[in-house]
Amino acid sequence: MDASEEILRKTLAEKQSAIEAHGNAVRALKAAGAAKPEIDAAIESLNGLKLEKTSIERQLQAAIGGGDSSLNREAFRQAVVNTLERRLFYIPSFKIYRGVAGLYDYGPPGCAVKSNVLAFWRQHFVLEENMLEVDCPCVTPEVVLKASGHVDKFTDLMVKDEKTGTCYRADHLLKDFCNEKLQKDLSISTEKAAELKHILAVLDDLSAEELGAKLKEYGITAPDTKNPLSDPYPFNLMFQTSIGPSGLSPGYMRPETAQGIFVNFKDLYYYNGNKLPFAAAQIGQAFRNEISPRQGLLRVREFTLAEIEHFVDPENKFHPKFSEVANWEFLMFPREEQMSGHSAKKIPLGEAVSRGIVNNETLGYFIGRVYLFLTRLGIDKDRLRFRQHLANEMAHYAADCWDAEIECSYGWIECVGIADRSAYDLRAHSEKSGVPLVAQEKFPEPREVEKLVINPVKKELGLAFKGNQKMVVEALEAMNEKEALEMKAALESKGVSEFNVCTLGKNVTIKKNMVAISKEIKKEHQRVFTPSVIEPSFGIGRIIFCLFEHSFYTRLSKAGDEQLNVFRFPPLVAPIKCTVFPLVQQQHYEEVAKVISQSLTTAGISHKIDITGTSIGKRYARTDELGVPFAITVDSTSSVTIRERDSKDQVRVSVEEAASVVKEVTDGRRTWADVWSTFPHHSSGSVEADE
Ligand code: AMP
Repeated sequence: MDASEEILRKTLAEKQSAIEAHGNAVRALKAAGAAKPEIDAAIESLNGLKLEKTSIERQLQAAIGGGDSSLNREAFRQAVVNTLERRLFYIPSFKIYRGVAGLYDYGPPGCAVKSNVLAFWRQHFVLEENMLEVDCPCVTPEVVLKASGHVDKFTDLMVKDEKTGTCYRADHLLKDFCNEKLQKDLSISTEKAAELKHILAVLDDLSAEELGAKLKEYGITAPDTKNPLSDPYPFNLMFQTSIGPSGLSPGYMRPETAQGIFVNFKDLYYYNGNKLPFAAAQIGQAFRNEISPRQGLLRVREFTLAEIEHFVDPENKFHPKFSEVANWEFLMFPREEQMSGHSAKKIPLGEAVSRGIVNNETLGYFIGRVYLFLTRLGIDKDRLRFRQHLANEMAHYAADCWDAEIECSYGWIECVGIADRSAYDLRAHSEKSGVPLVAQEKFPEPREVEKLVINPVKKELGLAFKGNQKMVVEALEAMNEKEALEMKAALESKGVSEFNVCTLGKNVTIKKNMVAISKEIKKEHQRVFTPSVIEPSFGIGRIIFCLFEHSFYTRLSKAGDEQLNVFRFPPLVAPIKCTVFPLVQQQHYEEVAKVISQSLTTAGISHKIDITGTSIGKRYARTDELGVPFAITVDSTSSVTIRERDSKDQVRVSVEEAASVVKEVTDGRRTWADVWSTFPHHSSGSVEADE
């Protein structure tokens, strides 16, 4: 717990006891018929204590971010969401039929932002890192998701309102309870606050039994009805379907895109010249039947995922470009800091890897690249942290996992998961499909290695086991080194060994003459192994929502009578890069506007031409609300002004140059500061009159 919060909670508890003691003293004085001045003095001191308590409560409220600040967060979110929905960035799907929870449509500006984010993702990862992009179907046969573990384990714990049957996510109810108590109930003791914070820190670690016990202990009921709740039980989040008309071939809508890459490993490895490391990437829709989706775009039932599977030799997870990111420093939240109640802290990436906080260089390299990707999009670096998974939160096979979490009005939200999944996925698909998904390392010189050799004597085994001979031979050949050496020892000492043949479902007796087990020196020309996979997985909708919130601000209109909304999107993300307005409705200005519009189209700059008669200030305000970074205003036939959205500064350029200046500055080849120092400034005057 934060030191100031702890001190304030203690002081508040002491003040409360003092008030109770003083209250008793006042009552005792009154009962004893004490003199009025004496009673008045005691009441005055009691009131003084109450005032002090109120002041401590206010400080505590500020320290924990509840009260006014949580109201502010909600008001802020409402302002952002209202603007987004009004300007059709996104809207609830099937709205005329009252919508469906967890399904949203992107409207025109939202689509443009999403496509810009994805284009940058391709540039930053696929292109810069030479990744192999694939595009696999959403409908997936059951066998694939059975092998990956999703059919059995892709579940969330659910509780039901025992009377109405309404479903809730068990961990969300516990989380809401803890947050509400911590933020709104100032009377809880320091110990209780620490307990609730600990639960929040380990929430993802809790088993169904532990969650159920906590819900009972705190008396948590159904939020809508206050009815009792069932015990938590697992609910599989996949949408089930069947492939083809017979109904005999079960399938699911994929819950992630990764499996499509794993099942193609063999071909992709070959395509890559049988060389490691390499990465494959995929952008596509994922489907999860979330139990009770809330929080708008953050928790939906169909969303775009962009995933990278970087295949690497498990014995060599160094990264040739790690030095490029090693000196970067940003907020990291290692497991130990979370468990001990500390906050995230800045750690240079190189140090995080060398101290073993981050498991390996390749994982560290991707953490660095994700940081760069998100901040270039416009995510505020002070509201971005990398949180390590707690030990039990992580899948048992994973070597290490970090989530890029972005703080928004809903708190810290996981937007990118970066996991070292070891060899789990490829092994699982190799076993289920029977196709070895492995890589080879060819040795420059053959190496001599001691090898265990098992030679079943088929003639003797045939005589002893007749029709079962084949299964006994296969079982003998499949023994691991430990089993084989134990059998060898038993055969040498006793002449026989009891041996379980699982395909026969029974033990058989192996005699000394039936198998030869020895260790031999052999020459090996290559090593065959299952690669490890490091997977950064990006929830595009979550990133976009956080970007909307981090980019939004309001400013007073020039007349001072209105708050105007602005999205400060970087040009890279902005849905439209530029608007073109004739200052007034005159044919010769409109013609110039059309010429500039044509040049912008040729230069590939998305723009909007607005020749309505609305005042120029209103037209600026409309485009600021869409986050358009530049506006060209035609106020003469030879030169025009270019206005930058956030500073509202304007420069004057010739009609011929206008499109190329906007192109350079939106492509990032030139900064606005450079444009500002190159061209004559235009003072707002009449043009800004209405702003
Ligand atoms: P996961 O495979 O659960 O680690 O999810 C990968 C990424 O998908 C997360 O980091 C989130 O950004 C995103 N994500 C997961 N579930 C949802 C959801 N229901 N709605 C939107 N994005 C999600």
